[in-house]
Amino acid sequence: MKIIASVQGMQKITSDLHKKSKTIGFIPTMGALHKGHLKLISESKKNNDITVVSIFVNPAQFSPTEDLARYPRPLEHDKKLLEQEKVDYLFHPNVKTMYPNGFQTYVTPNNLSNILEGKSRPGHFAGVATIVLKLFNLVNPTNAYFGQKDFQQCIVIKQMVRDLNLPVKINIVPTVRDKDGLALSSRNVFLSSQERLQALSLYQSLLLGKKLILAGNKNVKKIKAEMNNYLQKYKLIRLDYIEICNIEDLSIVKVASKKAVILITAFVGKTRLIDNIII
Ligand code: AMP
Repeated sequence: MKIIASVQGMQKITSDLHKKSKTIGFIPTMGALHKGHLKLISESKKNNDITVVSIFVNPAQFSPTEDLARYPRPLEHDKKLLEQEKVDYLFHPNVKTMYPNGFQTYVTPNNLSNILEGKSRPGHFAGVATIVLKLFNLVNPTNAYFGQKDFQQCIVIKQMVRDLNLPVKINIVPTVRDKDGLALSSRNVFLSSQERLQALSLYQSLLLGKKLILAGNKNVKKIKAEMNNYLQKYKLIRLDYIEICNIEDLSIVKVASKKAVILITAFVGKTRLIDNIII
């Protein structure tokens, strides 16, 4: 695996690959890699000539009160995993490379950045869309791979690709979970054993919501209340939101149906976790 740190280095490699008509699969990550990331990589390896992974903890998507400084950065371990997966290129720029002095141009999704995660984390999706567009410009991928775990992020990226006519296909990969159902996340390392146990209630409540909808319940308020009620037993869980949304545009639905996704976000102790389930 070749490791690239510079903008020019990355652009030269991908432009040479395109001249040779190679397809490029790209997986943007913030590192601290786990089996969820590896699933995205294996999808890319299956469907492209060349696979590029980026590791960049993007300051622009963290607010000042969030966990940027303590975000895990086990780079040597990540490199080993990527070597094992036979990734062709790791793009690992530093912050100054991506945001040089004087940087001022951001991509801001309009409505999508003010709802759900965007409401709880102002500025988050402008940070996400901006870095992803920059990375797309450097890597020039044929296919890019994103995890369903960050459902709103997937919708934001798809919208940006449509709006800005970007020549890349967005592929969404189902959430990878531990055996007991916990969605894999780089932030799970922050959980104590007790917190980890209680964190399972997020997925359990999503399963409960899905069961209620599939059983014919249409009353969104009632379904949310039942999910909330279930979570009450878990004292380390502090719910941020549960919403039932249209799967295409994330508008909040009035009547629950099979075209919906249930999204949940909660603090487990000090760690903020997100999860979702498609009905
Ligand atoms: P991150 O490093 O957390 O920014 O994630 C990089 C990519 O991996 C994003 O597209 C995430 O949605 C995806 N991802 C994170 N966790 C999982 C998971 N448990 N299953 C599938 N994809 C995931």
